[in-house]
Amino acid sequence: MAEQNDLMEKIVSICKRRGFVFQASEIYGGFANSYTYGPYGSELKNNIKALWWKKFVSMREDIVGIDGPIILHPKLWQASGHVAGFNDALVDCKECKKRFRADHLVEAVTGEDMEGKFEEMKKILDEKVPCPNCKKTNWSEVRNFNMMFSTKMNTTDASDEEIAYLRPETAGAIFVEFKNVVDSTRMKVPFGIAQIGKAFRNEIVAGNFIFRLREFEQMEIEYFIKPDAEWETLFEDWLKLQEEFVQELGAKKEDLRRYEHPKEKLSHYSKKTIDIEYKFPFGFKELYGLAHRGDFDLKQHAKFSGQKLEFFDQEKNEWFVPHILEPTFGLDRSILVALISAYIEEELEGGDSRIVMKFPRAIAPVKVAVFPLLKNKPELVAKAKEIFNQLKGEFPCEFDDNGNVGKRYRRQDEIGTPWCVTVDFDSLEDDAVTVRDRDTMVQERVKIEELREYFVTGLKSRKN
Ligand code: ATP
Repeated sequence: MAEQNDLMEKIVSICKRRGFVFQASEIYGGFANSYTYGPYGSELKNNIKALWWKKFVSMREDIVGIDGPIILHPKLWQASGHVAGFNDALVDCKECKKRFRADHLVEAVTGEDMEGKFEEMKKILDEKVPCPNCKKTNWSEVRNFNMMFSTKMNTTDASDEEIAYLRPETAGAIFVEFKNVVDSTRMKVPFGIAQIGKAFRNEIVAGNFIFRLREFEQMEIEYFIKPDAEWETLFEDWLKLQEEFVQELGAKKEDLRRYEHPKEKLSHYSKKTIDIEYKFPFGFKELYGLAHRGDFDLKQHAKFSGQKLEFFDQEKNEWFVPHILEPTFGLDRSILVALISAYIEEELEGGDSRIVMKFPRAIAPVKVAVFPLLKNKPELVAKAKEIFNQLKGEFPCEFDDNGNVGKRYRRQDEIGTPWCVTVDFDSLEDDAVTVRDRDTMVQERVKIEELREYFVTGLKSRKN
């Protein structure tokens, strides 16, 4: 375990050192569980989003995308059950004033699901659970804590009517556009609506770097099917696609497992829910989820809005309320998996070592770095700049003439750049350059005019 915690520390450290992820508002002393994706982190994030969008929207004729607002009609969250039920059980230590998830503390001791059992939780806490922080036992009552962030609209004093919420999941914005999408496109059930965007949850205990945040991004699909559809096969297909996607980010198959929610814990409307868990350095934890949500969402929103949210079956000449399969992907957790999977320390010949981020090429923040062999030789610098200018419109590129070539390789390895191009004196004669591969460190001589094709082919190859 020590070794694993070590790995998280190393990830956090390289993220800061190389500009992937910074603690946000650090100059003000930091703000708990709030992070900024830096120059390379934001590229990585955009690449992961683009890969997802391509796989699940662009490449599929049965899925379209939307981009809805973060602040939606407050009634929506009443219909969805979030106002009444999106709660965590919290408890305070009266001695050291730390706040905890009561269910987590109790379940760690009993192994039982404690949802909603407040009296029982309090009793077990008083009898068996000292505060993990100060080791004393002086607990407050166990209370419900709604995890939605609320905000006031157009007002200085808050009455209930003026309260709006920051969406706690992106799905809500999709359900309410079902009718608009059907009316404005030619989508026919089965079809899906996809969205990528921010969601907000007032997590009592956030943590583990970007694993649990109060402000995070989700990539979600609501897939509408006929009520009598063969959903089991579709469900399995979706799980496979989710597992496939995380492997495209670099995860190993053996680090994934499925956790099926026991029947008795399922929401009343769900036929089946499975979490895809990943072996993070801090244990197997939920990465993605897939739920069969029945017709709950469309029926609830129809009821609360007074609108008909149904689809017309041409063959049977009748309206029906579609059922929904919901694959959900956490973007920040995907980024964390990509970082963990990429991080490698390698021993080199001669007793040297290097850290290299072996991102799959498709998501690497920078694809090509271009160097002049020497900084003070204007003809080398000019040639290198020329190549850089030719390539940068097509591949995210970097020009680097700092320090020596060894140092530049080291830096590019740490940000995971698949190829480094060096312009040397021979280049001026033979119009070729040295291309060095990040993973094998093999160097190859490539004609300048063939570079573009070389990288296009490299990016297309499924090898990495
Ligand atoms: P957990 O049990 O870890 O709190 P959850 O079951 O509440 O997660 P869902 O409501 O199913 O999560 O949300 C869908 C996905 O959104 C999750 O699989 C996860 O990837 C991501 N997610 C949920 N909460 C957070 C968070 N606080 N920070 C980052 N990502 C999150």
